[in-house]
Amino acid sequence: MQKKYIWTVITLSACITMVHVMPVLAGKIIGHASASANANYNNTVQTVSTNFDFLSSEMYTYQKMESDIELLKQRYEGVTSDSIGTTTDGRNLYRIVIGNKDAKKKILVVGAIHAREYITTPLVMRQIKEMLDKRADGDKSLDEICIEYVPMVNPDGVAISQSGINGLNKEESKKKLQEIIDSWSEWGLKENQDKYNWFLNKWKNNLNGVDINHNFPTQGWPNRADSRKRPCNEFYKGASAGSESETQYLITLVNNENFDAVLNYHTQGQIIYWSNQHASADVLAKDRAMADIVAAHTGYKLVAPEADGSKYGTGFKDWLDWEKGIPNVTVEVGIGTSPVPETQIESIWQQNTGVLPDIVKYILGK
Ligand SMILES: [Zn+2]
Repeated sequence: MQKKYIWTVITLSACITMVHVMPVLAGKIIGHASASANANYNNTVQTVSTNFDFLSSEMYTYQKMESDIELLKQRYEGVTSDSIGTTTDGRNLYRIVIGNKDAKKKILVVGAIHAREYITTPLVMRQIKEMLDKRADGDKSLDEICIEYVPMVNPDGVAISQSGINGLNKEESKKKLQEIIDSWSEWGLKENQDKYNWFLNKWKNNLNGVDINHNFPTQGWPNRADSRKRPCNEFYKGASAGSESETQYLITLVNNENFDAVLNYHTQGQIIYWSNQHASADVLAKDRAMADIVAAHTGYKLVAPEADGSKYGTGFKDWLDWEKGIPNVTVEVGIGTSPVPETQIESIWQQNTGVLPDIVKYILGK
């Protein structure tokens, strides 16, 4: 029985991998484009899907994001993209920029710092399209603001959560992951296929086994509790503050761009982290104002300040509030356990439609 089960798992993951290497084909099979979106499609370019994969309820991979970024640039004016850094396994942390690049106001939207929370990537991608569609309908907000998006901060971790060890590109990456798996043999990962699958599917960290959102160099880092103390699929805060390249790429981006506000998406729980006990009164007031905007659209609950864990906080939010003085909110979308089912993307989108346009209005003082 055990042997048969293992083969089933291998066959399944092979199918998933095939879909990953054929995003174009997959995109053509799934029909989601509206008539108006098709009207702008450039027929001479054959390299990307004809539909936005972020509009589907399929598992959203790094490859689908790459295809969709190209499609956004084809369909809309003034969309640029680059990479703010490359991961250990050779993936890009893509940045998409829209709006007025010379504007005085600038905001950042990020998703998938935590690998298994990858449903936040199509959410952020939908927010790009939302702003561009509003502009096409006559909204002038993008004349006065620049919006930067990093929809997948942790693409190596996403690959592990979605496809396991075979989701990785390099042999040395697979070896690195195998070493982490082997180091937790006390959990019975070798003997029990279900536990092994759980360990990888629940992957939250980067390929080094570090939780990027526990790795930011706040004053609290030395005292931050660490329930793992060595590379693992979740929670490990790293060997030193800011040790991880993904952490450093976000730090460099924020230091270069001097954002007025940051919107940071995680799963799950339908709650909003907004406060930080080390933030100034001014930053805290702006955190709260943005949280109220998110709550008004989504119905999500605000986490009480006494429960926000900010005393020794080492997350992106803590660093922004405490060390940078940049107003921000962390929004936990979806319900159940991560990775939340792909089918939740529609309800998540219904809740979060209009959030970013209203955050933009708030930052512009309108
Ligand atoms: Zn998270």
